[in-house]
Amino acid sequence: MTTTLALFGGAPVRTRPFPTWPILDEADEARVLGALRSGKWGRLAGEQVAEFERRFAAMHGCRHGIAVVNGTVSLRIALMAAGLQAEDEVIVPAYTFLSTATAVVEANCVPVFVDIDLATFNMDPHAVEAAITPRTRAIIPVHFAGQPADMDALLAIAKRHGLFVLEDAAHAHGASWRDQPAGSIGACGSFSFQSSKNLTAGEGGIIVTSDDALAAACRSIHNCGRVPGGIWYEHHVISGNYRLSELQGALLNSQLDRLEDQTARRGENGVYLAVRLAAIPGLFPQARPEWCTRHSQHLFMLRIDAAAFGASREAVLAALHAEGIPCAGGYGYPLPDQPLFRNKAFGPYLAHVRDRLDYSRVSCPNSQRICREQGLWLDQSMMLGTRDDMDDIVAAFQKVHAGRDALAGHQAQAR
Ligand SMILES: *Cc1c(COP(=O)(O)O)cnc(C)c1O
Repeated sequence: MTTTLALFGGAPVRTRPFPTWPILDEADEARVLGALRSGKWGRLAGEQVAEFERRFAAMHGCRHGIAVVNGTVSLRIALMAAGLQAEDEVIVPAYTFLSTATAVVEANCVPVFVDIDLATFNMDPHAVEAAITPRTRAIIPVHFAGQPADMDALLAIAKRHGLFVLEDAAHAHGASWRDQPAGSIGACGSFSFQSSKNLTAGEGGIIVTSDDALAAACRSIHNCGRVPGGIWYEHHVISGNYRLSELQGALLNSQLDRLEDQTARRGENGVYLAVRLAAIPGLFPQARPEWCTRHSQHLFMLRIDAAAFGASREAVLAALHAEGIPCAGGYGYPLPDQPLFRNKAFGPYLAHVRDRLDYSRVSCPNSQRICREQGLWLDQSMMLGTRDDMDDIVAAFQKVHAGRDALAGHQAQAR
């Protein structure tokens, strides 16, 4: 028996909204109002940002946390602090948000893209090994969707070749690898607090590390090149003002109080959904390796094999939306295919090596398949829902699968 898809006029599985994001209550109001009324709105005068840095670093078992204005400059500052030089090569995954690679360009370094593993959506260590040249200086693994990358393999490669490992943990607040917090595994970790992220103050970022020298360099670069004990108008390195405001620090402090519970909820829902959705032909939820001891589910990722499912991703997305399930297709391009990289529109950066770079020659078939035809994602706020909410997601996928013939016929007509 099949019921008419909502796309064709049937009753939708769901008309209620999913949990919205961000979540706030009186605790946030009190914290932010306190910071506001203190009149100390900048971190140099107040205590909120410093408190947040201490708490976030401690949560990661790191000695230092340096809060900055976003999760893009945090990456760039970390690369600069590590002493990377002009035109050094930095290996990044092809399937990630833009910033992982543009932060490299803005450090005047060359992003070298490698493909991801089709099952885990994370950087493929074999591809990393194959991309290493005498100019390689760093690797930026992204813990994609909140699932730790293969750090055993990546750390071993980094050790063999003397590479700096910067974890892009923008999806991975609260995630862990072999019970070790994501972001604390490599030389340092970078997080974002942009609006969509699992912990947010609208904007913001942080670098965590236990390396004292690296932390000191990051702190100086984020504060106009000042050094401890130096006088105010004394600047030691190329740098800028990347300091977070106290209002953001206050909000992060109150939001952080909820992160643990929220992460637990997202994690439970993620495990449940993965089992239920994997039972539907043609759907492949993100594979979970044994080293992932906690997934933060910034995204719930899955692949759809259109032939096995019986309908294309675009048709399934339209049908799911009609059923009341806001599912998305994810990034439309692997990064090397972005016009920015194809045209090497790097502004003043990489002037001397630009001519020998050709991003049209990068091969990343897995990233391409996911972008063009197979990627599906649900966002972290949906993962804060109840078991009933998860059952609605499953029911909608099941219904769309049951109605796949009508969907395929509809597509054929539309063409
Ligand atoms: C969001 C994000 C960033 C950048 O963070 P912003 O705070 O938006 O600058 C970096 N890397 C990844 C993987 C992200 O998702």
